[in-house]
Amino acid sequence: MNAPSSPPRAAPAPRPGILDIVAYKPGRASAEGVEKPVKLSANENILGCSPLAKAAFASVMDELSLYPDGRGNQLRGAIAERYRIEPGRIILGCGTDEIFAMLAQTYLQAGDNIVQGEYGFGAYGIAARANEAEVRMATERNYRIDVDAMLAEVDERTRLVFIANPANPTGTMLPASEVERLHAGLPPDVMLILDGAYAEFCSDPNFTDGLELARGASNIVVTHTFSKIHGLAALRVGWGYAPFAVAEAVDRLRLPFNTSIPAQVAAIAAMEDEEFAARSLAHIEQWRPWLTQQLGGLGLEVVPSAANFVLAGFPTARGRTAAEAEAFLASRGLLVRGVGGYGLPNHLRFTIGLEEHNRAIVEVLGEFLGRS
Ligand SMILES: *Cc1c(COP(=O)(O)O)cnc(C)c1O
Repeated sequence: MNAPSSPPRAAPAPRPGILDIVAYKPGRASAEGVEKPVKLSANENILGCSPLAKAAFASVMDELSLYPDGRGNQLRGAIAERYRIEPGRIILGCGTDEIFAMLAQTYLQAGDNIVQGEYGFGAYGIAARANEAEVRMATERNYRIDVDAMLAEVDERTRLVFIANPANPTGTMLPASEVERLHAGLPPDVMLILDGAYAEFCSDPNFTDGLELARGASNIVVTHTFSKIHGLAALRVGWGYAPFAVAEAVDRLRLPFNTSIPAQVAAIAAMEDEEFAARSLAHIEQWRPWLTQQLGGLGLEVVPSAANFVLAGFPTARGRTAAEAEAFLASRGLLVRGVGGYGLPNHLRFTIGLEEHNRAIVEVLGEFLGRS
């Protein structure tokens, strides 16, 4: 019973901060009146996935009644061997999204903050706010992380610093020397999370995913996903390379069976299929410069990309908005990503497609921009 002075109890209330979260909005998957649209809105692998991964997935059809190995020891071992890292320092997750959520839950408390770039990936902010932490956005320069601006946002309540490298939705890359400078400028109790979701698409000699830097550091976590170059987004599996103490702490709150049997076996097979990964990279390396050049030729402001997508800005002077272009493309069955939620209302993000898709994007956009 309430004491006479206490307010009447109403409905269950979420903890502070939850209602400030803007739920993650995935890339669109359908368009009205279009039977089979081409989805270029979620940076999925346009070539699908490895046939070896499909065979591995199919091979466990008779094991659906079984719980997986919660620690995913076979996958853990395969990653450790492939990347020459210690198996005990690997965190497996239901997608890397879950790894960000687990790190936030393990390291943040009310009043803490995280620092990320101005156009930082949405999942980081959701993970922070879910733990009553503040999200600090450092101004970017030419759509690229500015290390000095990031360091200027760090204060005594900062616990986690996130960068995706290459970044999403901008596609820009931060060179190894700048990643090192960012790390060197952080207090030792601030964790640097290097999200390498698109690392495999970047062959720039100045790029590093940070695994070597992380090896000897006590405050770096590097993540990789099977969702992008390996084309297994449906299976939700990613991994992080963390200091032992971090991996051990996270393991205490990890859901006991967070990666499934099909995900574990398909991920192992995907890693073994180097031919598929090489073909996926070659496809991006062939079409990324082409799409960049063609979109630029249409008068769009294209951001140089190191990933499997390209971000382009619409010139406001010409009176055609990105939102109109997105709708026009959708009406022709081409689904691309509006990025207004990232503070880029006049840009669109184009996942690189097959040749016919890329040519169709350029043709339809040309038609759109040509109409007055
Ligand atoms: C796609 C993506 C990921 C991968 O997410 P999963 O949960 O592993 O599918 C991580 N970070 C960024 C920036 C991404 O765009």
